[in-house]
Amino acid sequence: MKAQDIQAIQLLLATPKKIAIIPHRNPDGDAMGSTLALYHFLIKNKHLPVVVSPNEFPDFLAWLPGSETVKIFEKDKANCTKILEEAELIFTLDFNALHRVGEMEHVLAQLTSPFIMIDHHEKPDDYAAYTYSDIGFGSTCEMVHNFISFLGKKFEIDKTIGTCIYTGILTDSGSFRFPKTTGTTHRIIADLIDLGVENTQIPTLLFDNSSYSSLQLLGRALQNMKILEAQKTAYITLTQAELDTFNFKKGDTEGIVNYGLSIKGIVFAAIFIENAAEKIIKISFRSQGNFDVNQFARDHFNGGGHRNAAGGKSEVSMKETLIKFEELVLELKI
Ligand code: 5GP
Ligand code: MN
Repeated sequence: MKAQDIQAIQLLLATPKKIAIIPHRNPDGDAMGSTLALYHFLIKNKHLPVVVSPNEFPDFLAWLPGSETVKIFEKDKANCTKILEEAELIFTLDFNALHRVGEMEHVLAQLTSPFIMIDHHEKPDDYAAYTYSDIGFGSTCEMVHNFISFLGKKFEIDKTIGTCIYTGILTDSGSFRFPKTTGTTHRIIADLIDLGVENTQIPTLLFDNSSYSSLQLLGRALQNMKILEAQKTAYITLTQAELDTFNFKKGDTEGIVNYGLSIKGIVFAAIFIENAAEKIIKISFRSQGNFDVNQFARDHFNGGGHRNAAGGKSEVSMKETLIKFEELVLELKI
């Protein structure tokens, strides 16, 4: 981050302020971890922060400290709009384009208070007065750790803030496996463990919370998997009818896309999930190595993300979406 930006932010944070902190729509562990870490840090510094999420977060994140204070825009638009309009400072974390907050975009676009972006996705938009954007980081949580350090307040990171930071680093790094996991990442994690962060309990809270029906849904997803062997590609589909059959709840499909990559020789994996209410097929893409799924999602499925993990959507039927996908994949040189 630029030294002059740090100084300007230090000045902004020198007096107590009403602050809104915003994760992207369908927030994941990194979005919730980073916003709540910053929330606790700002409370400690006598500010009045509120995390305003565009929509609900999944149950497997509901144990995060402070999650009970998070306001959900889709559930209470009037009150959330008021909070956003009254905020003197707005942090947007773990995304870099305002359309990632869905309907809330229209409210954010009208605000006049300064924005601070902290994010690790490709190609940031230019809406923030202060932008800390770096695709070299595996998680926004690692960047929030650095941001607090830049402000000269690393010593204020306690078990609560650390728990939130740990969660986002863990989830966005695929449990410390993905390529952007560095020695520095592990040194930060080591410091957090020394602060008392429950490093053995957190993965259990995050990952060992299946229900019978969510495992049955996983079983169906795996049975639906198709392999395009010559293209080293695997993809999974789940229709709305299948989601309904297995009593789908938010979070139940998290991580299923990765099973494709666990097959020896597969380097490109996708999952197509029908959302009847939104009339879209939500897509997740994952790759191993050089194949850039961020570019693929941007070029063909109105999405984006990172080189090895991206998402997008399709507004035509599942069948048409899959025909398009297979045609595109056949042309790829993977
Ligand atoms: P996931 O597949 O886990 O939903 O998302 C993988 C990565 O791609 C995340 O970093 C997420 O923020 C990004 N991503 C997912 N869906 C979209 C989308 O529709 N548009 C953009 N720009 N990024 C997305
Ligand atoms: Mn992230």
